[in-house]
Amino acid sequence: MIPFNKPYMTGDELYYIKDAVLRGKISGNGYYTRKCHGFFENTIGYRNCLLTSSCTDALEMAAILVDIEPGDEVIMPSYTFVSTANAFVLRGAKIIFADSCNNNPNIDVESIESLVTVKTKAIVVVHYGGVACDMDVVMNIASKYNLFVVEDAAQAIDSYYKGKLLGTIGHLAAFSFHETKNIISGEGGMLVINDERFDKRAEIIWEKGTNRSAFFRGEVDKYSWVDVGSSFLPSDVTAAFLYAQLENLEKIQSRRKKLWTVYYDELKQLENQGYLQLPDLPYYASVNGHLFYVICKSIEERNMLILFLKENGVYAVFHYVSLHKSSFYMNKNVNIELKNCDTFADQLLRLPLYYELDIEDQDKIVNLIKTFFDKK
Ligand SMILES: *Cc1c(COP(=O)(O)O)cnc(C)c1O
Repeated sequence: MIPFNKPYMTGDELYYIKDAVLRGKISGNGYYTRKCHGFFENTIGYRNCLLTSSCTDALEMAAILVDIEPGDEVIMPSYTFVSTANAFVLRGAKIIFADSCNNNPNIDVESIESLVTVKTKAIVVVHYGGVACDMDVVMNIASKYNLFVVEDAAQAIDSYYKGKLLGTIGHLAAFSFHETKNIISGEGGMLVINDERFDKRAEIIWEKGTNRSAFFRGEVDKYSWVDVGSSFLPSDVTAAFLYAQLENLEKIQSRRKKLWTVYYDELKQLENQGYLQLPDLPYYASVNGHLFYVICKSIEERNMLILFLKENGVYAVFHYVSLHKSSFYMNKNVNIELKNCDTFADQLLRLPLYYELDIEDQDKIVNLIKTFFDKK
């Protein structure tokens, strides 16, 4: 069986974990946490980073930082992972779901302005599959109405918008290092702070609402409870694992992007023949090889293709179920129609894409898809 995903270990993880253990301090904000912060800030160029235990955590921090209060409205796509919404629901926000674009699953930025009300506090964008949302439009709306922008960049490491690194554009950004992402630490994530107004408070929220970080830098003579917060920081063992991955970022990315391109080139013919649609890449976006999908013509055809691939030893999977149709949201008696979002929920199919997927296996997957459509 060719799995859908296989977490890639670079081989250096245990070495760094052993080192972290031998250093005798494995709680949060230790040696490897600082090494990772240094890599992200100095080698990659994010402004100010805090590792978290998950992207979900980073999103929860973002919701606290932009000061979501009960009744505040937050605009976001319905085609996303539950955490994008949950983080804000936990603070009492009312989620206003926007539709996807016609030709890609990202939020339709043209629909955002009509959803803004006096209660709107933030816009959350999701760069689906690492493909950038049209951020100029989003940032313009945000500045016109004085809103915060949070990038859910869970899938968007090493990807760009008009040459600008994703995660550096909104006021805040959240990354994931869950084992299904490009760079992993099992569970893991990171908050990127692009607006200096959040710097001080972010560090406090991260450390359970205390000024512990300032204390360890010698800036205050004792640390105490100064704000709300939680235990958002990961163990240094997790950071040690992540550091091994970061050192191999280029190697991992070059392999994943290559696999993405092979899928695209090999399946182009089926798109030209009208059997399916390939990912649409706007002129302003880049490919980071996070995931590869095809869009089938109907849910029935998509499900038949999943079954056909499975019978032939290949696990391919669909993705999000529209959040506006979830039982949790429907219970709130909101009835909205988001046509494009539903199309992606019904017809999108993700193909196996992981570092160790070899060319023969990828060939097999491509040929099976061609056979499936040949038979029709
Ligand atoms: C993976 C993912 C998350 C959640 O990440 P965790 O690190 O598992 O919390 C959130 N949003 C999107 C878009 C994701 O793909």
